[in-house]
Amino acid sequence: MGYKVDFKQMNHIFEQLSDEYDIYAPKRFKKQGRYSDTDIVRYDRVENIEDVVFDQKSDYPAKEVLSPITQPLFYFTEDEYRESKVNDKKILIFMRPCDVHAMERQNRVYLQNGGFEDFYYKRLQEKVKIVLMECCTGWDTCFCVSMGTNKTDEYSIGVRCLDNELLVEVKDDEFNSYFEDAANDDFKVEFIEKNQIEVKIPEIKDKEVLAKLKEHPMWQSFNSRCISCGACTIACSTCTCFTTTDIMYNENMNIGERKRTSASCQIDGFSDMAGGHSFRPTAGDRMRYKILHKFHDYKARFKDYHMCVGCGRCTSRCPEYISVTKTVEKMAAAIEEIEREGK
Ligand code: SF4
Ligand code: SF4
Repeated sequence: MGYKVDFKQMNHIFEQLSDEYDIYAPKRFKKQGRYSDTDIVRYDRVENIEDVVFDQKSDYPAKEVLSPITQPLFYFTEDEYRESKVNDKKILIFMRPCDVHAMERQNRVYLQNGGFEDFYYKRLQEKVKIVLMECCTGWDTCFCVSMGTNKTDEYSIGVRCLDNELLVEVKDDEFNSYFEDAANDDFKVEFIEKNQIEVKIPEIKDKEVLAKLKEHPMWQSFNSRCISCGACTIACSTCTCFTTTDIMYNENMNIGERKRTSASCQIDGFSDMAGGHSFRPTAGDRMRYKILHKFHDYKARFKDYHMCVGCGRCTSRCPEYISVTKTVEKMAAAIEEIEREGK
């Protein structure tokens, strides 16, 4: 069913929904951007439709709702432990198509990887329903069409934001009753068909080419450019790595809490082992690892599609202006060179 509602009606619907749902959406945080007097747009709970930022890509992805940057896991004393609690409400998240695909990739890593389920992720993920934000124009760093993540059917409600009203497509019958007083409309969500950037992801045809690519000098060109800050991975819709820390409340080392915090493969020390060995000591090594993970290794393991969803947030957040799409193009050129030399 399709509907048209003005913001006042939508706020009334938000109020009704909030009995059952916590609603999350991209929200503007004034003067919290990375430069003075700039804002940041990131996911948070919203109570009004006016709080939802439709006209800008969020700086940080929707994954923050399910895998926050920092999260308490459990509390312990000398002889027992207790898991952290979450509230009983279901979760409604406003997402763009690339974020929906990113959640699918996160589900796979947290829930279907090696036969283990991440309890802390699962207890949030199983409560999620999606409000799809129509996204027909994209932004200058987006390349979702190239990654095949520009379209999705996986949503309960789809919305297009006009000046002071919303066009709404309800796919999940559970939500039709909220729109009983709204005018009918034949709205259906549309999808972007072409981004400003097009990227062809190169195929790595065998292990020999892969081994030579890993040794290619292109990676070391990042040693002088990448400052290993990790901003690209924190902003990435699909990165899932985390580390855990025990925080003791006092001098008794047996009383405290365990937290997990997002970690970045781009930061020096990420791959350090006991005994001092590091697998990826240079920024170039770490860049190679990240790019191959997003554009080769994940697909090689799961046999279907690449991990990257083409949201372009890593390019937008990099303080050194390192573009993920330009890096993939460099990798494609290196593969061509390796194949030419091998003939
Ligand atoms: S690698 Fe970059 S473009 Fe791809 S999902 Fe992560 S942030 Fe988005
Ligand atoms: S690529 Fe850019 S954002 Fe990522 S670690 Fe290097 S400098 Fe930081």
